Amino acid sequence: MLDDTQDTGARTNTTHHAGAGAYPSGIQGDGVHDNTHPPYPRDGALGTTTRDAGARTSGADADVRAAGGLDPAGAIVAQANEAPTAERPVEGVVQVLSPRQVPLGGLRALEVRRTLPHRDRSFVGAWCFVDHYGPERGVGMDVPPHPHTGLQTVSWLFEGAIEHHDSGGAHAVVRPGEVNLMTSGHGIVHSEVSTPGTETLHGVQLWVALPDVTRDGDRAFEHHAPECVPLPSGQGSALVFIGELRGVAGSPIVTHTPLLGAELRLDAGARVTLDVDEGFEHGILVDTGTVTLDGARLERGDLGCVDEGRATLTLDVGDEPARVILLGGTPFEEEIVMWWNFIGRSHDEIVALREQWETHSERFGEVVGYEGKTVGDLVAHLLDQDVRVLVDVRLTPLSRKPGLSKTKLAAALRAAGIEY
Ligand code: MN
Repeated sequence: MLDDTQDTGARTNTTHHAGAGAYPSGIQGDGVHDNTHPPYPRDGALGTTTRDAGARTSGADADVRAAGGLDPAGAIVAQANEAPTAERPVEGVVQVLSPRQVPLGGLRALEVRRTLPHRDRSFVGAWCFVDHYGPERGVGMDVPPHPHTGLQTVSWLFEGAIEHHDSGGAHAVVRPGEVNLMTSGHGIVHSEVSTPGTETLHGVQLWVALPDVTRDGDRAFEHHAPECVPLPSGQGSALVFIGELRGVAGSPIVTHTPLLGAELRLDAGARVTLDVDEGFEHGILVDTGTVTLDGARLERGDLGCVDEGRATLTLDVGDEPARVILLGGTPFEEEIVMWWNFIGRSHDEIVALREQWETHSERFGEVVGYEGKTVGDLVAHLLDQDVRVLVDVRLTPLSRKPGLSKTKLAAALRAAGIEY
């Protein structure tokens, strides 16, 4: 749903130039996700600098929050010029990604909190896109048919309901506590519209990068309603929607790389230790409450990430009950190019995908059953394309990053004059 948006996470070589000198050398070269060229804004309200509002946050976390922090001219905003702080755990090896706010368009835009892709991290396993939104009342969702390639979308709601149609013939209503996974394969089109009865939207929208060996495969759509099962500690429960959480539950959803996805409902004051796969990277996204992940405090909307090599994750819950999304997967070692709704492997491939979409290639198929925006809306939507984005820049790949590795962090801290 929330993916036909402004913030593509695509990187351009201009971001590297803009970044020169703006960061301590240890992190300068990581590039910044350029969310500044919305190729398909949803309506005329878009195309302004307000999209990358996350870049305008200030404070000690600015270096983290500033992912996507480019103004339309490609210059890094001032706040991003701050040195990394030493406040984040170093030895704890928890990388805390704070979200940036991304309005999704329209006069009553639904604003999402985006933590992946992030300047400091591209993946948790093959999870490559994490949007968290709501609870928001009175905001509808109407995402007209738009394409995808090379990925799976995973929709998980806490409240509300969304009607889905895709060119693979799937028609489904996405409901809270039920996972809906769409595999684009070689190409797909889908639409998403909140149901008339939906008063509040609240959930997450996630993408999984497909590996090269299967990314040109068939379209697919899977649905699963996991049972809510107690955690072994008795201090909470879990809905495992993808993969297996050891000793808790598993999901029949088919994945193309080893993955884990689960909603955890945790009691106030609980200490919960989860047995996890040592070969996985993991992320904890906080929906409600506050939790401490292996010693690192996570606020609402934060994504706390740990690299592989952990056999357990320990969550300490604050004074209120907490709800979190646990993500995991084996490190995704391939480089991808993510632009708008496409995932490919090169700039030229993305250019070709865009061309194919604009010329109504059969690659994507047709959605039947979408009854959302008017024809006029759709025409305006298409006319708003920003053609420059693929003329003026070359997209560079996202690759797996080890997070705030000790080497990188040490270099950054040294460059900032902080003893480490
Ligand atoms: Mn989509």
